[in-house]
Amino acid sequence: MKGLNFLKDLRPFIWTLILLITEALSGQTNPYLPDISYTPLKVRVNLIILQREDGSGNFQDNPADHTFIENMIRVTNEVFANLVNRNEEYYPGQNLPFLSNAKIEIVPNIIFRKYGFGWNNRNDTNHSGVPYLSGWYLDYLDLQIYGDSALPKAINLYFSNDGQLHEEMVVLGTTTDYDKRIFFKQHAASEIPVLNSRVQPYGRFHSMRCHIGNVWLKLWWKRNVLHEPDWTMEYEVGKSIAHELGHLFGLGHTSENHLHSLMRTSFGGLRDYMTTQEIARVHQTFGLYPSLWQFVEGDFTYGSATADWVVSTEETWNTSRRLYANILVKSGAVLTITSEILMPNSGALVVEQGATLILDGGIVRRFDTPAPDAFEGEQLEETQHMKSPYLIDARDSDQAGTVILKGNGKIDGAIIGLIKD
Ligand SMILES: [Zn+2]
Repeated sequence: MKGLNFLKDLRPFIWTLILLITEALSGQTNPYLPDISYTPLKVRVNLIILQREDGSGNFQDNPADHTFIENMIRVTNEVFANLVNRNEEYYPGQNLPFLSNAKIEIVPNIIFRKYGFGWNNRNDTNHSGVPYLSGWYLDYLDLQIYGDSALPKAINLYFSNDGQLHEEMVVLGTTTDYDKRIFFKQHAASEIPVLNSRVQPYGRFHSMRCHIGNVWLKLWWKRNVLHEPDWTMEYEVGKSIAHELGHLFGLGHTSENHLHSLMRTSFGGLRDYMTTQEIARVHQTFGLYPSLWQFVEGDFTYGSATADWVVSTEETWNTSRRLYANILVKSGAVLTITSEILMPNSGALVVEQGATLILDGGIVRRFDTPAPDAFEGEQLEETQHMKSPYLIDARDSDQAGTVILKGNGKIDGAIIGLIKD
C-alpha cells in the first residue's frame, strides 16, 4: 500500500511509537510469542469475488478459477509458515531471536457476488483505499455479509476491478497498457486495529475488511498481453494478501531499507521476513482485540504445553482477553481477575493446591458459552433446557486450590482442585 495521504504516511510512525511504549512497559519477553511447537492460529477469511451484474469481469465459480484462488492463498500461508532469517542483515549485531514460522494460517471461504457498483473500484471515492469502519463504498454489501448467519464470521477480503480499464482493455480491446491506464495502481488496504480504542465508537464486535483491487484484471493482462504463467500473479497477490492481513492483525509498516520485510511499505522485495516482535504482536492482537476473536473457532487451542498461561507469583488481570491455551495457577500464587477471560471450549483453568484464584467481578468463560446474563432474569422456558454452567458460590477444599468469587465474579464449568502428579 502506497502512502497517498498525510494521515496514512503518519500511521506507521504512530504505530511504532505505540509499539515502543508497550514494549518498554512490559519489559520482558512477550507472553504471546509462540514457539515452534504451537499449532498455527487458524483465521477465517472470506474471499469475496465481486462480479458485474452479468457475472463477468472477475473470477468465475469454476474449478480453474478456484485453483488460482487456492494457489494464491497457499502463497499467503507459505509466507507465514516459512520465514527467512534476515536478522543480521537488518539488525546487525543485536543477536535477535528468530522464529521461522509465524504460526498463522488462513482458512479461506470463497464467495461470489454479482454487484456492479462494488465490482468497479472507481466508485471508491476514498483514494487512500483504506476501508475505514464507516463511509466506505462497500459498506452496504459488507453489512449484508457480516450479518448473514449462513456465512462464517470471517475477515472480509474484497476483490474489485477498475471498470473503465476493463471496458477499454477487455471489452473493447482499445488498449493493452495496464500499467499506465489503471486508476488505482496498488489498490490494497486494510485497517489497523488499535487496541485501546476497540470499544468505541463501533461497538465491541465489528466487521474487519480488506480490499485488494484489480487482481483479475492484471491477471487477464498478464495472460493475454504479457503471456506470463499464472503463478507469477498467484505469487504477487498471495504476498500482498499476507501484507494486508498483517495490517489487520495489528502490524504497521517497517523500514523501507528492509527490502524483503513482509511489512515494508513499498511493493517489491521477497516479503519473507518478520521479526519475533511482529509475530508476538499478531498473537497479542488476537488475544486482546474482540473483533478478531470472532474469526477463530471456539475450540481452537495452540495445543502446546508451552502455550499455557502459567501464573507462579501474584498477578492481576484487568484486561479482557481471549486465550487459546489453558491457565495454570501454581501453588503459592495468587491470580486476581477483574476482567472477562475467554477460554478455549476445551480449555482448563487449574488452580493448584496452595494457589488462589480471586474473581473480583471478573468472568471466566468458554468462548462458546454465552455471557452469564444470558442465564439470568426471566424464567427460561422448559423446552430450552438452558442450565447455567456458571459457578456462583465460592468453593474450597483441603485437596485443592482456593477460588474466591466476589463482586459478582463468575466462572464457567469450573474444575477446581486438579492435582497434577
Ligand atoms: Zn501496507
